[in-house]
Amino acid sequence: MVRPAWGDAHDVIIVGGGIGGLTLALELHRVGVPCRVFEAVPRVTQVGVGITVLPHASRVLAELGLMDQLLRYGLSMRDSVFYNRFGQFVYREPTGEYAGLAWPQLGIHRADLYEVLLAAVRERLGEDRVIFGARLVRADQDFGAAYAHFERVGGDGDSSASSFTEQGSVVIGCDGIHSTLRCQLHPNEGPPVYQGQNMWRGVTPWPPFLSGASMLRVGWYSSGKLTIYPCRDNVDGQGNQLLNWIAAVQTSRHVERDWGRQGRLEDFISMFEDWTFDFLDVPSVLRAADAILEFPMVDQEPVSQWTFGRLTLLGDAAHPMVPRGSNGAGQAIVDCRALATAMAEADDPVEALKMYEAERLPVTTKIVYKNRVEPPDVILQEVCTRSGDQPFDRLEDVISEAELKALSEGYKDLTGYSKRALA
Ligand SMILES: Cc1cc2nc3c(=O)[nH]c(=O)nc-3n(C[C@H](O)[C@H](O)[C@H](O)COP(=O)(O)OP(=O)(O)OC[C@H]3O[C@@H](n4cnc5c(N)ncnc54)[C@H](O)[C@@H]3O)c2cc1C
Repeated sequence: MVRPAWGDAHDVIIVGGGIGGLTLALELHRVGVPCRVFEAVPRVTQVGVGITVLPHASRVLAELGLMDQLLRYGLSMRDSVFYNRFGQFVYREPTGEYAGLAWPQLGIHRADLYEVLLAAVRERLGEDRVIFGARLVRADQDFGAAYAHFERVGGDGDSSASSFTEQGSVVIGCDGIHSTLRCQLHPNEGPPVYQGQNMWRGVTPWPPFLSGASMLRVGWYSSGKLTIYPCRDNVDGQGNQLLNWIAAVQTSRHVERDWGRQGRLEDFISMFEDWTFDFLDVPSVLRAADAILEFPMVDQEPVSQWTFGRLTLLGDAAHPMVPRGSNGAGQAIVDCRALATAMAEADDPVEALKMYEAERLPVTTKIVYKNRVEPPDVILQEVCTRSGDQPFDRLEDVISEAELKALSEGYKDLTGYSKRALA
């Protein structure tokens, strides 16, 4: 679809070929808008562990025709289950398709999600539409076009002196938590806001636990909190799964944000040493991990503007949020649908970027704030506080089923994956 009002430069320039950038390329292709993706790393990397794709986002991926492939790698989660650190049951609710939704809640390894997206972009748009080793340095614009200035990144990760400029109708910064475009558009932004918890993440081959597709959350940060769910099924032909786990503790000590930073078991294992429940031996799972990554629980104060004429931000570059509600990938994917729809409907790309911002900025700002204080795991905070972080005799003396449900449903409504919101 080539519309004269868009000027000579029709391609949308997508900066960053992560989950948001690749999904955006597929979404734009779906509505007939040509684009190219420029990714800083020189080649495909397999850094990362598991990731959750909530139903509002899996809907977008399903409508792109990717769900069968994704389910070949990941799992449709059956339920979300909460326990206290003494192994006492707190709450369980079905998820995704098992909650009567049309779309699954996916537990998947990020590398698998990435590979499915990248293969689809190459197949549908063409091999030459994803350019690796191109790091955005800055972007600018004039009346008729936007320009992205890149430096080449070699195989060893070093930037070479060579640089080049690409022209497009717009430039979309999908360049993640360290976004160059965000820094350019908001040069006086403050540093990331540390929320007081540090996380260690890993994957461990292990037999299925609980329903075999349960997202389990246990404990609270003051005495250790664990999230664990399978992200690959039957990894060895003997029924073992790859369990993705996140162990988080309240501490003033934290590291810089880097998805690939190696962590050390001895920095957190003591908090989880006696967590041997009849359904899962947590310390053994943590000890058996292939590798451990460390990441701080940080976000950034929301900004009031993403779109500046022909330039805008998407995903983590637009709304970095603490990874507590499984919404990082989800909100990036939902952004892509909103932006592609706006690009398809507007006569003018500048108008399209404004429409996209008007739809997505207010809601994601609320999610950033909600994730700080009241994501789904706040259920466990309530139980921990009310029980004095001690075992309880009867759960109903601590918190009612109705209160638990209200906490969970409130988050789903705001973030857009409740039955009501998806309808
Ligand atoms: C290597 C890696 C591993 C991750 N692992 C996990 C994980 O295990 N679990 C989890 O929940 N989340 C993980 N994340 C984060 C998760 O993918 C995002 O929070 C979420 O999917 C939102 O996607 P996004 O596209 O906004 O950002 P991302 O998926 O982070 O993608 C941003 C992309 O932009 C590229 N980029 C950055 N700067 C530039 C530049 N100047 N020019 C061009 N390209 C640039 C990056 O290399 C990256 O590919 C990881 C991210 C990365 C980059």
